[in-house]
Amino acid sequence: MARIEYAPAPESRAVVKLRRQYGLFIDGEFVEPASGEYYATINPADESPLALIAEGGEADVDRAVRAARRAFTKWSKLSGAERAKYIYRIARILQERAREFAVLESMNNGKPIKESRDVDIPLVAAHFFHYAGWADKLEYAGFGPNPRPVGVAGQVIPWNFPLLMLSWKIAPALACGNTVVLKPAQTTPLTALLFAEVCQQAELPAGVVNIVTGHNQTGAAVVAHKGVDKVAFTGSTAVGRQIAETVAGTRKRLTLELGGKGANIVFDDAAMDQAVEGIVNGIYFNQGHVCCAGSRLLVQESVAEEVVARLKRRMQTLRVGDPLDKNTDVGAINSAAQLARISELSDSGSTEGAERWSSDCALPDKGFWFAPTVFTNVSQAHRIAREEIFGPVLSVLTFRTPAEAIEKANNTQYGLAAGIWTEKGSLILKMASELRAGIVWANTYNKFDPASPFGGYKESGYGREGGRQGLAGYLEADHV
Ligand code: NAD
Repeated sequence: MARIEYAPAPESRAVVKLRRQYGLFIDGEFVEPASGEYYATINPADESPLALIAEGGEADVDRAVRAARRAFTKWSKLSGAERAKYIYRIARILQERAREFAVLESMNNGKPIKESRDVDIPLVAAHFFHYAGWADKLEYAGFGPNPRPVGVAGQVIPWNFPLLMLSWKIAPALACGNTVVLKPAQTTPLTALLFAEVCQQAELPAGVVNIVTGHNQTGAAVVAHKGVDKVAFTGSTAVGRQIAETVAGTRKRLTLELGGKGANIVFDDAAMDQAVEGIVNGIYFNQGHVCCAGSRLLVQESVAEEVVARLKRRMQTLRVGDPLDKNTDVGAINSAAQLARISELSDSGSTEGAERWSSDCALPDKGFWFAPTVFTNVSQAHRIAREEIFGPVLSVLTFRTPAEAIEKANNTQYGLAAGIWTEKGSLILKMASELRAGIVWANTYNKFDPASPFGGYKESGYGREGGRQGLAGYLEADHV
């Protein structure tokens, strides 16, 4: 199988109108940060600066929380149907401006345009539609007859799916009658700021959504603020732990969506070509910057050689390069820091004795890039089998029996996602019931739907986002 060469097919950037500088979005308008400080956000594919972003501090977070508190008084008293009108309006505007959002997401994050265009942005709109539908049905959602909003939600999100993570946080919060202060990741603030413009366009009442940009200490200020009633965090387990410590002993509610080390398990009777596609999708989708990535391939010993050979052939066909090119399969790594982490962990794989193989793609000179890589001869003790790499790096382990597959799959501090590939329905059900993972996919991988709850076991966090279950974190209820 050879890589097919196509002429470049870049998506036009003309649809995106970037401002030179972005303030904080507080109380319905863009305002200067108290410090007057700004930092540059860049395009990771070529390191070119895109815009200046406000560095929010404690005073700004305080201002945003106060605005959210004022707005809460009215927003929480609107009927569910009234709130739904705004959320539907937001969803429709997101669809109308989908191309602009997709291009901007790819520019700031490095993900291929075909993913931002066909996966991220449609899912974002779907999420708002889904939760708009819940807003007037909360009494029937299984939380008792009188579910009430929690208050002001402080929300902190990562850079891997910037707008999608925003939608997972904001849509259920608003549907339940809460107001929010959201801190986007420092490297990917631009679609959140464009979303602020959508809030203005939808005439969402001022203060219902506030967006405070900045680095880690800005997130810490949101979490620690006394006026925040609920904290929702998606990010690394290490930071999640710190946040749990900050919140412990306060009245704040907390949900944590953290890291993962998902097992993608292939049995010898699996449809081989589909399984290989699923393995590729599981780990090379979004450059492997996916918390639920299938980063550990567990393959039955009798077919391991064949699966790995087919996988390498398929990896040779992946096109790595310009995220805005419509033919690109694998884009840029989001930051120099993330590239350094992926490189360091991959080097540890070689040092510890695993066998490293990368597709022989040419990588661009500028920007942050890492070739799709697979490690064989991996043992469970290797760091690459235990730690989240969060990059396009797959570790292959083998097993002989279903019991061994379950034991190896569960042998991790995490418990976010897993995949099973087999023709046997009974085996799927047995595996799914014994895998300690919040999400188990069968004969597919990385499929998302707003109606389906998402969340982890163990150090992958607690609480669920999506679906009816995703309402729970944003409601005070008499019976849960
Ligand atoms: P990160 O934890 O470093 O940062 C996440 C966010 O938290 C950023 O906005 C950051 O500024 C902020 N932050 C950092 N320190 C903070 C502190 N002390 N207090 C409050 N906020 C703070 O993670 P990242 O590198 O941006 O994202 C990658 C991680 O996110 C991976 O581990 C990945 O698995 C995880 N993730 C999980 C899910 C999920 O749903 N489980 C989804 C996407 C990503």
